Amino acid sequence: MRCIIVHYHELALKGRNRPYFETKLVRHIRAALKGLGIARVEPLQGRIRVMLKDEAQWEPIRERLARIFGIANFSLNRGVPVDLHKPDLESLKAAAGEVIRDASFSTFRISTRRADKRFPLTSMDVDRAIGAHVGALTGKKVNLNDPDLTIYIEMMARRSYVAAGKEPGPGGMPTGVSGKVACLLSGGIDSPVASYRMLKRGCKATFVHFHGRPFVTRASEEKVREIAELLTRYQLYSRLYLVPFGEIQRQIVLGAPAPFRVVLYRRMMIRIAEELARRDKCWALVTGDSLGQVASQTPENLSVVEEAAQLPILRPLIGMDKIEITEQAQQIGTFETSIEPDQDCCKLFVPPHPSTKTSLDQIRKAERGLEVDTLVKQGLERVELAEFAYP
Ligand code: ATP
Ligand code: MG
Repeated sequence: MRCIIVHYHELALKGRNRPYFETKLVRHIRAALKGLGIARVEPLQGRIRVMLKDEAQWEPIRERLARIFGIANFSLNRGVPVDLHKPDLESLKAAAGEVIRDASFSTFRISTRRADKRFPLTSMDVDRAIGAHVGALTGKKVNLNDPDLTIYIEMMARRSYVAAGKEPGPGGMPTGVSGKVACLLSGGIDSPVASYRMLKRGCKATFVHFHGRPFVTRASEEKVREIAELLTRYQLYSRLYLVPFGEIQRQIVLGAPAPFRVVLYRRMMIRIAEELARRDKCWALVTGDSLGQVASQTPENLSVVEEAAQLPILRPLIGMDKIEITEQAQQIGTFETSIEPDQDCCKLFVPPHPSTKTSLDQIRKAERGLEVDTLVKQGLERVELAEFAYP
């Protein structure tokens, strides 16, 4: 019998929340592996066991598990029955022989863990016996400190599981345990990374994008759809709100001093995003701001933007620099899409010298010349919704 044993991470530490977290993780794994020949997914003695049908292929399963938050590591195992009264190392030896059949290595070690301590042999006894067997079978040497291959044996109540190596999971917390947040996605490098960081902490994300139509082509919008699709691989279902922003920007250009435009745009985005966030029962807004990166991200301007919101604004990248953010974007696979040229609404009507130090007084005064509520309403009336599902 082939099965996958999934080990989870910090959620193991979460005391009374553990059953809740475990249930979320089991459900997510079930949904993510749909169609890949899975017989059953179930919690089992502090782990999760994924039973495979004969036709199941390891590669696509591995790829999907590697993106499920909350997983610390996972491995493909042979399961063998264990009789507690008759420690039958023969079946373990046979299973070890099978799992290493396609592995290439010159040194190895055995790592046994007993979840069920009633088994009469200690972990070390098993390590030694199976190690001797694998050595005799392959002629390879044991190396305890830095082996090419570790063969893992987990001894549970009724079965033991044998695996050649482990795959790292992405860590973090299971999708959905931290509620929903509304992520402002611009199509640039930063905001997809900010969204990813919140997904990893167990949030579900609703995406909001402001586009410059009718003053620009659909380019930024197409990019954001692509990015939303990439991020959907982590949460399996996403909603993306597309808000027309060109007309709102035009009104700001007509009605307010040029140096304040950037901050005024941002405050309008926040107000509209907040309404959409409430619709989707989100508890916070998320942006890709990083301190000091551009004019809208100075301490003064961040504070003035913050004031337009009632919900918390989370800025997971605030202390990261561009190189670190870019590396993350490459790792999660959004970088290539983000750097495609586009016409983003932010590049529309940008003043030559945006103020880097606005004050709330100045901005409130500037907003008196605008029909703020009407503009928010207009944006919301014309919003479009796109939905994404994975797999
Ligand atoms: P990014 O790389 O995410 O575009 P940036 O360095 O270009 O960020 P800004 O353009 O100042 O910085 O945007 C800061 C944040 O404001 C973005 O990370 C995003 O969360 C939000 N934002 C900016 N423009 C838009 C937009 N058109 N639609 C939705 N959110 C936006
Ligand atoms: Mg940008």
